[in-house]
Amino acid sequence: MQFIDLKAQRQRIGDKIDVAISRVLEHGNYIMGPEVDELERQLSAFCGAEHAISCASGTDALLLVLMAWGIGPKDAVFVPSFTFASTAEVVALLGATPVFVDVEEDSFTMSPSSLEMAYSEAKRLGLKPRAIIPVDLFGQPADYDRLLAFAESQGMSVLADAAQSFGATLRGRRTGTFGHATATSFFPAKPLGCYGDGGAVFTDSEELAEIIKSLRVHGKGRHKYDNVRIGINGRLDTLQAAILLEKLSIFSDELQARQRIGDAYNQALESLVCVPRLASGATSAWAQYTIRLSGRDDVARLLGQAGIPTAVYYPQPLHRQTAYKEFPVPRTGLPVSDRLSGEVLSLPMHPYLDSSTIHRIQQELGRILASG
Ligand SMILES: *Cc1c(COP(=O)(O)O)cnc(C)c1O
Repeated sequence: MQFIDLKAQRQRIGDKIDVAISRVLEHGNYIMGPEVDELERQLSAFCGAEHAISCASGTDALLLVLMAWGIGPKDAVFVPSFTFASTAEVVALLGATPVFVDVEEDSFTMSPSSLEMAYSEAKRLGLKPRAIIPVDLFGQPADYDRLLAFAESQGMSVLADAAQSFGATLRGRRTGTFGHATATSFFPAKPLGCYGDGGAVFTDSEELAEIIKSLRVHGKGRHKYDNVRIGINGRLDTLQAAILLEKLSIFSDELQARQRIGDAYNQALESLVCVPRLASGATSAWAQYTIRLSGRDDVARLLGQAGIPTAVYYPQPLHRQTAYKEFPVPRTGLPVSDRLSGEVLSLPMHPYLDSSTIHRIQQELGRILASG
């Protein structure tokens, strides 16, 4: 049993991907080749954002947006503590202050009430609130209506971290269209993954799109050797774009399979453990299927002995990590993030998981919990 079965997808479209790779090897435009333009066109059509700008990773996607917004020292950027390190890392890299916010227990995404408390704390510390980065953790969009309303009322921008949620929807709209900008990742284990590192930024703002296109090529102006701003080397490889084009052609079908599997898991496990719930009007890209239970570490060990791989995202919230523990948190702390890190357990999830595997996981989990 695989936690994420990338081989099953290769069996389905491996031949087409190999042909696409050969095509790039033949034309030899490894950097910014025609597949990169085509991918950006198709990504923007897929999610409905005006502009899709591909880049070298999900982390670069976040970084490029913050750079374009001119985020820097004395600025506060609000990020959840219960997330992958990248979300806060890019803020700190620019010399700004990540201010940690708690998450909602049922959706794992940024809590609007905790955001207001974190905002007060940032003001008290004399920081300038500039932006918030809600994370669509495990694949479900955050509560953008409320988060955006608060951010805009305080003159802040919203960067959606959709690294785990590309393809998810909220009331019929897809991720890529919720914040002022959206960042996603094509790391192999994400819902839409390539064969290495990759990412993209989405926005409806033409001005922002143009700045990011410049920043990803060393701040280029009219051409590569005309440098009008400080940038980075943040391009997506043509080979990865070619691979992503093939994967995008079956992505809608895979998203439906993920949703089916998420529903089947919920039905099988809801009497045993606390299962993930989607907000009304939301669908998830199901990057992870994450349950909550007490005695998590023992259960994970026993599942492992029974041949069922699991993972813990995340065993420690960022505000407890060595590198991040000096950054501000709201006065009341982040109790939900602290609790969740001790309870969450992610089970195997990919579009090719069959019902007999879900049944087996249900049986083993039931047996372990009954004997515990
Ligand atoms: C994976 C991930 C990232 C970073 O993406 P990379 O492509 O690995 O740089 C950022 N945020 C979240 C929430 C992620 O899961």
